[in-house]
Amino acid sequence: MVWGHASVRDPDGRGVWMKAAGYAFEEVTEDRVVLVSSRGEVLDGRGERHLEYPIHTELMAARPDVNAVVHTHAQAAVAFASLGVPLRAISHDAISFLDPDVPRFNDTGNLITTEDQGKALAACLGDAAGLLIPNHGLVTVGDTPAVAVMLAVLLARACDTQLRAIAANGPAEWSSDDEVREKRATITTPGFFTAGYAYLLRRAAGG
Ligand SMILES: [Zn+2]
Repeated sequence: MVWGHASVRDPDGRGVWMKAAGYAFEEVTEDRVVLVSSRGEVLDGRGERHLEYPIHTELMAARPDVNAVVHTHAQAAVAFASLGVPLRAISHDAISFLDPDVPRFNDTGNLITTEDQGKALAACLGDAAGLLIPNHGLVTVGDTPAVAVMLAVLLARACDTQLRAIAANGPAEWSSDDEVREKRATITTPGFFTAGYAYLLRRAAGG
């Protein structure tokens, strides 16, 4: 609905451009984004900033390779995280997150609203592509918006797929660590992310 958020790094180093609060992802337009400093000040743009801005500012501060961050409260991710079981490579969707398992941020299930919480979240993420926040949601990162957005979609799908398998008394099998590495080399190429993202943009535009 309206509670997740996405951001990109400001090219001039002033902070991060975030979706303004009160809008769903599909409602974001050029005038519904705000430039937020590392201290949470709104420097440019129109609208309210989300309370959870430290997710974005602190992850980008900790990860120079990251230029985009996505945070959602995807139901499948929250339901899956509540089970406390490892994420398994039972679909292509999961393979970006298994080193060997998707990290879980267990400091709090409440909102991430302080710089210290954002720093702790960044420490939990390490060099991973994303993490789960039990009782809350998911976070993914990328060098481009295409990668961060697609990883958020894929992590939620991976959780949903495993929930379906668990509901059918599985999973009984999943890809080995070696096959996960092989799949990463053949599947999750830059073109994979940009193709999926381009489709989402066409769909959002109604095309
Ligand atoms: Zn949240």
